[in-house]
Amino acid sequence: MDCRDVQNLLHPYSDGELDLVRHLQIEHHLAECAACAEHQLGLRRLREALASAPLYHHAPDALRARLAADLRSAPATPSRRGRRRPRALLWATAAGIGLVAAAAVTTGALLSRASTSAETKLVEQVVAGHVRSLQADHLTDVASSDRHTVKPWFRGKLDYSPQVPDLAGEGYPLSGGRLDYLADRPVAALVYHRRLHAINVFTWPAPDADETPVRALARQGFHVCYWQRAGMAYWVISDLNAQELDEFAGLLRQHSAAPPP
Ligand SMILES: [Zn+2]
Repeated sequence: MDCRDVQNLLHPYSDGELDLVRHLQIEHHLAECAACAEHQLGLRRLREALASAPLYHHAPDALRARLAADLRSAPATPSRRGRRRPRALLWATAAGIGLVAAAAVTTGALLSRASTSAETKLVEQVVAGHVRSLQADHLTDVASSDRHTVKPWFRGKLDYSPQVPDLAGEGYPLSGGRLDYLADRPVAALVYHRRLHAINVFTWPAPDADETPVRALARQGFHVCYWQRAGMAYWVISDLNAQELDEFAGLLRQHSAAPPP
């Protein structure tokens, strides 16, 4: 993959829309190529600027009035009416909804990307965290199938103590844990396995006390389940099939309801 290929794919890369292999290829390239890394940085700055800039402006009254007058005076013979209407509609829409200042300098696609919800960003972070953990041979900082080794390991590293349920009896043995960084904070990542499939469980104190049901989605070939319970947020991700990951999420949710021992 050369620089041009990489730069062509930076938009979908930034949006987490690429498959795992290509995502990793680009990540490697960015680590080694200053020119592309700078390109990526510029793109990120633009996205941040777009996300924070007020992009919606109301049309001044004078402009509105002029457009309305132009529309009224535009000739519309019966035979051409059908063809004229779409253009008239377009003008009316432009006058009605106001002018998007940034439309002149950027594309509509970028604008919609700038409005990505916090939840979508979190999904991307969870996928990136999972991919990172598999890629850099860095699945666990503490490798142990014993919850009594893994749970205390987080002590002093986080300002909360994650629950580390033992699900080996159900066919999901624990293999360890590590620290990760999500949602602007360090979080506990617990690693379980089902056969050869690694399952990352990210958990941290929920921003609000609401309990939510398990929600599931698929992204870049991974299955993701997430929910809130007992004051904690849980994000589970794996390349395991959706049915088994669902079962795992159900078991974890069941166990995470119990008070910490
Ligand atoms: Zn390059």
